[in-house]
Amino acid sequence: MDLKNKVVAITGAGQGIGRSIAEMFAAEGANIALIDLKEEGLVAAREACEKLGVVARGYTANVTDEAAVDATMAAIVKDFGRLDGLVNNAGITKDAMLIKVKDGEIVNRMSMDQWNAVIGVNLTGVFLCGRAAAEQMIRLGNGGVIVNISSISRAGNAGQTNYSAAKAGVIAMATAWASELGRYKIRTGSVAPGFTRTEILAAMKPEILEKAIAPVPLKRMGDPSEIAKAVRFIFDNDYFSGRCIDVDGGLRL
Ligand code: NAD
Repeated sequence: MDLKNKVVAITGAGQGIGRSIAEMFAAEGANIALIDLKEEGLVAAREACEKLGVVARGYTANVTDEAAVDATMAAIVKDFGRLDGLVNNAGITKDAMLIKVKDGEIVNRMSMDQWNAVIGVNLTGVFLCGRAAAEQMIRLGNGGVIVNISSISRAGNAGQTNYSAAKAGVIAMATAWASELGRYKIRTGSVAPGFTRTEILAAMKPEILEKAIAPVPLKRMGDPSEIAKAVRFIFDNDYFSGRCIDVDGGLRL
């Protein structure tokens, strides 16, 4: 897809990988609809995109709120007159062992709050945004591209029952959408990043992060721009749909 004058919506675009995707797409001439829970990140991301000479607008919305998501996608189409792409990037972690045992005693288990919060944002949020965007794209009749940001953890990572389940789920969702939406010229795909230098990793203790990165064959974290390049590839390749690209420095969990 030639991005010039196209309109791409990106969730969780106020920082990290989402912001990097926004800036890469803006640099190629796409007008950007930035969606995030937090207003302050949106202002800086909008200004950064506008500096690249495109139109950018920020939309404060919680991707878990059905009414807000539907209203936001409708507002984007009203404001820009089109919608060519969506990147489902917003995500959170709330790590805990399923069952934590210390000195032979069960001392903790993953709580319903930890489960519901992560499934809410990382799985239900992707469903709601994907559904709302696909609806607008079908109405507009110009096709489109929807990319879900998964994770290396989709293979199943200790301490991440909730996150792993959601990140495997979004790949399956993109595959289901490829089957359902291809007839409307809507393509889909997923990108599964490995450890990438953003705020989300701030939740990990430094020693755990160091341990996690040690087995990465390339011996470093990824840069958000390296994830953005894979998203760009999916937008660019007109025969790509329903599959997942791993960008993980060669690490397999
Ligand atoms: P980040 O924490 O830096 O940014 C996430 C953004 O999502 C934030 O701006 C946050 O405000 C927003 N957000 C959170 N909940 C939201 C909600 N309910 N509604 C709207 N916006 C919300 O994270 P990141 O590292 O840039 O991660 C982006 C995506 O990449 C996530 O889906 C994450 O799971 C995935 N990922 C990240 C890594 C990594 O190592 N950084 C690895 C694999 C996958």
